[in-house]
Amino acid sequence: MQTTLSIIKPDAVSKNVIGKVIERFEDAGLKIVASKMIKLDKEIASGFYAEHEGKPFFEKLVNYMISGPVIVQVICGENAILKNRELMGNTDPSKADPGTIRADFADSIDANAVHGSDSEESAKREISYFFKDDELFLR
Ligand code: AMP
Repeated sequence: MQTTLSIIKPDAVSKNVIGKVIERFEDAGLKIVASKMIKLDKEIASGFYAEHEGKPFFEKLVNYMISGPVIVQVICGENAILKNRELMGNTDPSKADPGTIRADFADSIDANAVHGSDSEESAKREISYFFKDDELFLR
């Protein structure tokens, strides 16, 4: 069993597709074991994306991530990290396979509907960035 961090980003929240995104996870056999709706501030968003600091898209990414509320979740299941990445599709929605979350709900590489951890190491860091151990309802 693996856990991974998912964020439903401001564009998907404002499009009212939170439930549709969560349904993709559940239909793939993944379980939500922690969930909250929050509005990130500049410091929290910059810290979360620290590995991208200095890249040309960093400022835009941070400003976008603080533009509205997000849903931060921990999802759990067999191969959850890879499974979630397959469900999300390519970072750039115009390159994402049909039927993936980004192909169906995202508008651009900036407003691309969802985030998912890309490795066990980043999942560990990202989960603990938003949740305490006792906030995870591992079943
Ligand atoms: P991640 O790779 O999951 O840490 O997220 C980086 C995020 O930055 C992506 O999900 C995109 O929303 C955004 N982004 C904007 N421009 C780019 C780009 N040229 N390459 C990668 N990510 C980008």
